[in-house]
Amino acid sequence: MKIASKHFGLLITSLILVSGCSASSDSENQLADGTSSTSAPIPPEPTSLQDLVENSDAAAYWAWKKSSQKILNSVSIIKTAIIEIGPNTTPDYLNPQIAIDLASKLYSDHKQNQELTYIYYQHEDTAWAQRKLNDFLGKYIQDWQKEQAQSSCRAKDDCFGAVAITHPKKPAGIVLVSASDAGKEDVNHTSGTLEAHEYTHIIQDESQGRFLGQVPRWQAEGEAMFAQAASIYHLDFLSYTVERERIIKELIKNPEISQSWLIEFINPDPGLTRWEVWDKYPGWRVYDIGMLVTEILASLKGPESTMRLSLEVGNGLSYQKAFEKIYGIPWETAVPLLAQIIYNQINS
Ligand SMILES: [Zn+2]
Repeated sequence: MKIASKHFGLLITSLILVSGCSASSDSENQLADGTSSTSAPIPPEPTSLQDLVENSDAAAYWAWKKSSQKILNSVSIIKTAIIEIGPNTTPDYLNPQIAIDLASKLYSDHKQNQELTYIYYQHEDTAWAQRKLNDFLGKYIQDWQKEQAQSSCRAKDDCFGAVAITHPKKPAGIVLVSASDAGKEDVNHTSGTLEAHEYTHIIQDESQGRFLGQVPRWQAEGEAMFAQAASIYHLDFLSYTVERERIIKELIKNPEISQSWLIEFINPDPGLTRWEVWDKYPGWRVYDIGMLVTEILASLKGPESTMRLSLEVGNGLSYQKAFEKIYGIPWETAVPLLAQIIYNQINS
């Protein structure tokens, strides 16, 4: 089973594009002269899911804070990607190595031994990109991958997809990133978030190994969404919240999303590893709800804890057992608490 993800960029509704590399650490609380800004006070660090039920808004800050500290304290792994650019292509983002480094540092406790290649292509170079993927996978290519480049970039003005694929037999990953004129106006294509997201999938894949895909679909996509926001915007909480709001905006005060809806979504009856059970939901739900679950877990035990779910699953544990081992609470007990915290967050 292969993990694949497609990302169709959201249309820009705002021209706000905040560089993740321009603000100083902790700038959300203190001004340069040492006086306090008018931003909200820092919430107390959460100690448990029960605690977060009472203080649901603490999750965003502490997940960001622990991620920021993790990145700032991590030694660079120096995962240098090979970057290949189609002959007719100008990438939407010109510094993919920066984004890869940040995501790499976020999960620096985890094995990252793959040879890594990023392929950039505009619509004119779709066949070229597909040939690169064909060469990478060789005889292991699966039917659904034979038109992968095309499906991520169907037309000059419909070209927003990206996909991360790991080789089934050797430690190597390839990321196909589409590029377009519209992409050059799309914050997800120009900020590095897309590149960080896809590299997170590569780390997940390596951690899961032969148990690839044995995590909930929302875990795979949600962790990658959280990672893109927390890594690119690790220096500035306000910028993180702008990206977070972009990701979760369809959830805010959404009347369809009750606590029982959330419980069923997070822990569906047919089980956590049959990814088709999420097909009945709008496609973005595995991204936005998954991002909020990941954020809650990262606020308690740091970003490396959510990647450890993949590692423990890769060691042969079920997702539920891995969860209990890492977070110290049975999965079945945690699910309604996660649902309540998310419900509080999106309705506050
Ligand atoms: Zn993805």
